[in-house]
Amino acid sequence: MHGIDWDAATDEAAELLREYLRIDTSNPPGNEAEAVEFLAGVMAREGIAFETAVSAPGRSNLLAAIGPAERRICLLNHTDVVPVERPYWDVDPFAAEERDGVIWGRGALDMKGMGIIELMVFLLLKRQGVALRRGVVFLAAADEEAGSEYGVRWIEQHRPDWMRVDLVINEGAYGLTGLGGGDSQIFQVAPAEKVPVWVKLSVRGRPGHGSVPHGDNCAEHLVGALGRIAVWQQELRITPVMRAHVEALGKAGVLRSTDTTHVLKAAADSPGLRARMANTVSLTTIHTGIKVNVIPAEASATLDCRLLPDVDVDAFLAELREVVADERVTFEVLNRYEGAESTMEHEFVHVVREVIGELAEGAHLAPELTSGFTDSRVYRKQGTPAYGFVPCLVRPEELAGVHGHNERISVENLRLGMQVLYEVVRRLAVAG
Ligand SMILES: [Zn+2]
Repeated sequence: MHGIDWDAATDEAAELLREYLRIDTSNPPGNEAEAVEFLAGVMAREGIAFETAVSAPGRSNLLAAIGPAERRICLLNHTDVVPVERPYWDVDPFAAEERDGVIWGRGALDMKGMGIIELMVFLLLKRQGVALRRGVVFLAAADEEAGSEYGVRWIEQHRPDWMRVDLVINEGAYGLTGLGGGDSQIFQVAPAEKVPVWVKLSVRGRPGHGSVPHGDNCAEHLVGALGRIAVWQQELRITPVMRAHVEALGKAGVLRSTDTTHVLKAAADSPGLRARMANTVSLTTIHTGIKVNVIPAEASATLDCRLLPDVDVDAFLAELREVVADERVTFEVLNRYEGAESTMEHEFVHVVREVIGELAEGAHLAPELTSGFTDSRVYRKQGTPAYGFVPCLVRPEELAGVHGHNERISVENLRLGMQVLYEVVRRLAVAG
């Protein structure tokens, strides 16, 4: 394809990924400056112009650009990874061991693997001398895993020019294979994601001796409120993106039936599907008490709420207060975002469909709603189309490594990801 030696490109990608995985960017503390140094070294070797921006000590971001400054396509990736629980790993998570064509390490899927795929696509466009009519930028951002304060949210404030692009390709939806034990191949494009709303509930009360209950125990008030939240029913609902997702899975033979009753029943039984068809509330921390015989004066808890992208955040918070129905409980919103979706009618999606049809015969394309959040939310909020699209075909057991243990990616997936992404970006950038 286009005179590229894909065997050599795959070897190079695997080598770069192994080097990248050995840089420990567990966040906290992040230490992304080391990742940026590595990427800057690659750009310098290739003679590609780049800039770096330090957002805090040890935290850094990198932007490299090729082609004209117009209608730029951004290959977005984050350089940090989530921490590891070493005892549960079968290998050293920062040794980047390769076994039977599979590279193991924290970040292999989320998302240093995709970062290297984007990097290689970027380098190949440059090396091939592709006549670009649109600019292509490679943006490696820090701190995605902790909320992007030193990454894209910092960039939004301090380097808004870095974010002036017309299209963003990012993490947010892996291609899947082996679903339900079958061999269907499903590439996914996510135009939207769940909206994080983090809330802290606090109650103050009268302290006292545990031997003399006085009816004003803050811990009991909090537990009452949390009990009401725990049984609060969240409506299951199939949004247009999820309707299209379900239809695609039906066509791929992964879902037995796509009728609404069946899908809602499946969602009720599957936490993963339910998370994409309802607002969810997870009780994540509780703090109170100092001693077994002391009635505490303070109690607090945090809730990780994730809303469907079309939900009004204020209306949701008002409903939460009604459910709690206790004046003593105070609410503090720790973090909130507003939902924003990109359109599936974008030329990017059409090109993806075309390329997949040509390069992966028999594969399907499914729209997807990302249940977590990604840096795409910052772009969508400013009206820039942003899509989750990791064009690898990942098996369910591999997917468990994301934020889990034994994270890994096959070299075959590096090759597939590069080939698909290269062709998508090339077509978009050459067509102008
Ligand atoms: Zn990620």
